[in-house]
Amino acid sequence: MVEKRTIQREVFLSGVGIHSGQRVSLTLRPSACGRIVFRRLDLGGREIEVDPLKVESKNSSSLISEDCAVQTVEHLLAVLHILGIDSIEIDLDGGEIPVMDGSALPLAHAILEPGLSRLPSQKKVVKILREHTLREGQASLSFSPDQDFRLTYSIEFPHPAIGSQEFSFAATRQGFLAEIAPARTFGFLKDVLELWKRGLAKGGTLENAVILDDEKVINGPLRFPDEFVRHKILDLIGDLALWGHPFLGHFKAYRAGHSLHLKTIHFLLRNPDFWAFEESEAPSFLDA
Ligand SMILES: [Zn+2]
Repeated sequence: MVEKRTIQREVFLSGVGIHSGQRVSLTLRPSACGRIVFRRLDLGGREIEVDPLKVESKNSSSLISEDCAVQTVEHLLAVLHILGIDSIEIDLDGGEIPVMDGSALPLAHAILEPGLSRLPSQKKVVKILREHTLREGQASLSFSPDQDFRLTYSIEFPHPAIGSQEFSFAATRQGFLAEIAPARTFGFLKDVLELWKRGLAKGGTLENAVILDDEKVINGPLRFPDEFVRHKILDLIGDLALWGHPFLGHFKAYRAGHSLHLKTIHFLLRNPDFWAFEESEAPSFLDA
């Protein structure tokens, strides 16, 4: 049994949204509500809950509720998930979570700073019981039973600085902070104009994303030679966190992205014979 968790004090953060380009201030507040709730102060305090059925995935994952949204929640949700925080209220004065330096590390450090407190209610762990693979074009995402929460990601980009990369991560808090949270988002210079046309990446700069031209990283050095695939693991954790339950299972992604991550959650929701709520075991990242 693992208790739900909140933060001990308010945390204040601000920065630019990578897609909107808007400056946003965020206040994370301790709460015993047992859920993660976003509140748009700029829209009269409209509330948006984390719900995998109310998500839009374009180049990031966004929570949508009627005419109101919170864009790019995946890095923040990944941090909250690994820290075990599932009871918190997040006030923001704009429509997007700040990108910070493109990684989850500044968010993780800020949220860890006040310390966590445990609540009387229990988390429900989802234990994967049977293997399954979802496909989307050349991409695939499979899940299978495991004693712990494990993620393996493979990417292939026909680019000299990326190529084929694979990373396997058995989730622990320390491992997340050292190996996954520092990995920054990345993009290709040639795609930037196209993204701008679609109203995306307006806040993207050389300070908050790894940018590649046709041959190389133009704003190196990288934090890890395989920073790209590590960032994909961060995104996968954040998207799996949309369901709101820790997992006992192994997720293996090949050339996937936000849309296939989300389809996997939707598949699990529609097919309860592939999993069960587990009360006596929990993944080891929650030991911290
Ligand atoms: Zn990302």
